Amino acid sequence: MGLFVRIARKLTLDQRKISPMAEKPNPCLGQQELIDEVQLHLMRISELSRATAEALAAGSEGLALEIDKEVERELGMKERAMGALHQHRKEHGC
Ligand SMILES: [Zn+2]
Repeated sequence: MGLFVRIARKLTLDQRKISPMAEKPNPCLGQQELIDEVQLHLMRISELSRATAEALAAGSEGLALEIDKEVERELGMKERAMGALHQHRKEHGC
């Protein structure tokens, strides 16, 4: 077995550990789209939070406040996406 194949397999196994969806053979597409949306907002929150911290460290309080508003906006969108995911699972039974 080539090294690349072994690394690729290891990555797949590692992904399975952090992504419960990967264990399901036939994930509902609607549910997957909602999960993707939640994850996208979580990633943005993570990036924006880091940017806020960096702006504060650099003494740019105005910029930090501006980015913090974006963090709040993304948090709201993440909450709505989470709610939609919960609603979908309840109604669809997936
Ligand atoms: Zn579904």
